[in-house]
Amino acid sequence: MRLSRHFVVPHVSTGDMLRAAVREGTPLGQAAKQVMDAGGLVGDEIMVGLVSERLNSDDARTRGYILDGFPRTVRQAQALDAVTGERPLDAVIDLDVPRHLVLERLSARRVCRDCGTNYVAQGKERQPWICDVCGGDVMYRADDTSDAINRRLDLYEEQTAPLIQYYESTGRLTVVGGVASPDEVFARLTSAVEASRRK
Ligand code: AMP
Repeated sequence: MRLSRHFVVPHVSTGDMLRAAVREGTPLGQAAKQVMDAGGLVGDEIMVGLVSERLNSDDARTRGYILDGFPRTVRQAQALDAVTGERPLDAVIDLDVPRHLVLERLSARRVCRDCGTNYVAQGKERQPWICDVCGGDVMYRADDTSDAINRRLDLYEEQTAPLIQYYESTGRLTVVGGVASPDEVFARLTSAVEASRRK
């Protein structure tokens, strides 16, 4: 979100797109809800269709985009290479955070139901917690239970971690250390994107 504001490009988050579909009760949302709540992965074919359509829309075509949460499998990465054929990605970033810290961060995460802004719970917040950005309700994500978080992390190791090798082998990967303050990590990410774009 912060990166997309900085670079003034659309934030294409597959998780946000799926959560919107769940809220609207579309057939996609109905099919995806159970899988998401359990921390599973929605099928590659559905995800590739969703992302291709989004990347072909005018704003993404003319201004570029930040892809967040996609690809999560090697099949998705291969399909993305086909979709972006003539306009390849500027940068692929692996934000490196140890598993125990991811677990800690996700357990404290609260999210605005309407605009998706993330917050860190410190236990002192007034209830109901109202989003500073849009006035929506700030709450737990349905899939931030410890079972679903652990399932997501297992699937990350099984299905998503192989992408490191996939992008490294073609010289496209930049690893950014994610253990630092939000401002420091943000600065590292913007430098990594700018350095990759200059290549
Ligand atoms: P996120 O907001 O990126 O954490 O995504 C929330 C949930 O949406 C994930 O746990 C998956 O169930 C689903 N999801 C999001 N992106 C993908 C993807 N690229 N492939 C499969 N499932 C996805």
